[in-house]
Amino acid sequence: MKRVSFFRSIHFKFVMVYVLLIIMAMQIIGIYFVRELETSLKTNFDSSLTKRISLLAYNIEQEMTRDPKEYSDGKTSQGEISTIIGDFVTGEILEVKVIDKNKTVIATSELNQDIVGKKTPEVSIHRALLGLEHSDLYIVDGKRVRVITQPINHQEQTIGAIYIVASMDEVFEQMRIINKILAAGTVLALVITAALGIFLARTITRPMTDMKKQAMELANGNFSRKVKVYGEDEIGQLAVTFNYLTEKLEDAQATTEGERKKLASVIAHMTDGVIATNRDGQVILINNPALEMLDVSRGTIQDQTITELLGIEDEHTFESLIEEQESIILHSDSHNNPVIIRVNFSVIQKEASKIDGLIAVLYDITEQEKIEQERREFVANVSHELRTPLTTMRSYLEALADGAWKDNEIAPQFLHVTQTETERMIRLVNDLLQLSKLDRTDYRLSKEWINFPDFFDKIIDRFEMTKAEHVTFIRHIPNEELFVDIDTDKITQVLDNIISNALKYSPEGGNVIFNVDILSTDIQIRVKDEGVGIPQDSINKIFDRFYRVDKARTRQLGGTGLGLAIAKEMVYAHGGDIWATSKEGQGTTVFFTLPYDPNQEDEWE
Ligand code: ATP
Ligand code: MG
Repeated sequence: MKRVSFFRSIHFKFVMVYVLLIIMAMQIIGIYFVRELETSLKTNFDSSLTKRISLLAYNIEQEMTRDPKEYSDGKTSQGEISTIIGDFVTGEILEVKVIDKNKTVIATSELNQDIVGKKTPEVSIHRALLGLEHSDLYIVDGKRVRVITQPINHQEQTIGAIYIVASMDEVFEQMRIINKILAAGTVLALVITAALGIFLARTITRPMTDMKKQAMELANGNFSRKVKVYGEDEIGQLAVTFNYLTEKLEDAQATTEGERKKLASVIAHMTDGVIATNRDGQVILINNPALEMLDVSRGTIQDQTITELLGIEDEHTFESLIEEQESIILHSDSHNNPVIIRVNFSVIQKEASKIDGLIAVLYDITEQEKIEQERREFVANVSHELRTPLTTMRSYLEALADGAWKDNEIAPQFLHVTQTETERMIRLVNDLLQLSKLDRTDYRLSKEWINFPDFFDKIIDRFEMTKAEHVTFIRHIPNEELFVDIDTDKITQVLDNIISNALKYSPEGGNVIFNVDILSTDIQIRVKDEGVGIPQDSINKIFDRFYRVDKARTRQLGGTGLGLAIAKEMVYAHGGDIWATSKEGQGTTVFFTLPYDPNQEDEWE
């Protein structure tokens, strides 16, 4: 935050207000006081002067009216008057003149006695001789003087006048000193109040600065700091309230943080993907499963909108997603594996009519879709496999019904075909039944302990005797006893299928080689032929239901493509594995394993 400049600070304002108040107070006091004082000083001065002049007038009147005979030793009335006024001229009295009724100056206090005996032209004296007092203020040579003319009365008659010039400098000097004292007082008061103001302002601004600092800390998430409480006044209470607020905020923050963490943890540990946007459609939250499903990294999605992120900006806008809120299906690639994602949208709306964002939940429905696809394929395959023999049978039966039954040569042939097709259908239905049994989760094997080499030999023998005229069997089967815990019917079926496949695809004079190897925890059975082989891209699919490499040819050979699928389920049910390797034109090897525990055998011994 910007620092408050000194002239805008409360500190400055406070001091200014104090100083201005003091100046104003002093000014008002000063004006009133000085005026009153001046008036009172002047009144005092005037009244004391008037009293003295009255006394002087009386004395002079006495002298003027005294009988000249009363004077002895050469004294005259004029001389006496001169002495009186000479005595009178002290302090503020500058000049005294006595004038008789003929306007002639009879005495003056001035050193220059020239005017004595001469008539005076002064108007105020003339007026005084008429019995009128006069007093006025003049400035003579830069000095304030009061000039007073007073008549001298004797028995109701004006017999002369006194003219007095008195200096008022003393009064003004006093005023000047008082003003000076007042000014000094003002300055002193100002200095003291300014200092006091600074101190007082500090008591207010210090807690305020403290609170400002605290607020800044709060904004940065530091709740440990407390404001110092300086007193119990309003500012102190504000500080206490501020500290209370801090505590409450801390609590609230902790609660929100806790909730946020809970939510974040829930979102992070969900298996479904979650994406949240702001009101502009920009992605503000995305969890790891969503990143994974969309195969993007957190860094690359910054500033992306949800439509860009999902790659649907051509078909949808953010607004249309909000309005429709339907789920959409996305086909994406996650680590180069195709994934199918269903995205459900819901709007974040805190108040009605105001939309704060959108939440998209992503479900990986790849597996579900795969199962669904497989189911559809399976139904289609089954229908197809059943329809082929049925159509064949229908055409042969139609031909028979149309009269072919009478033909001794054709009729048995046609009947033979329908019989074969029926058997094929029965085989197919049996296979399907078996698979559906194997698919059941509560499927149980009826296991028994048997010596595997023995068991294997007998099965090979059976084939050798009945179906293997065109090939040579080579056996690499250990002579020792290898006891395994298996469902013999099921494993017989597995071996039947593998061996019949080997025979089916072997050329005239080819070899079929049988191996049994003992591994650490399994025995591995191998059946190798020198037949047509399987293309590399089909090698893993031959264990899928209804999969045949060359449909036309295998159908001729009577296969439905379920044999290895059933074998796989059975081997898996035993806890083993099954796979094949092949080189086209050179032959195929089918492997499968069965769990084997050599120690178990010891116990049997
Ligand atoms: P079914 O066994 O139900 O009578 P099938 O033999 O065609 O029919 P599977 O045993 O499941 O079905 O075999 C699937 C496909 O794998 C076969 O159609 C064939 O194309 C291929 N196949 C299996 N074994 C061999 C083999 N030894 N040599 C070449 N191709 C094989
Ligand atoms: Mg087969």
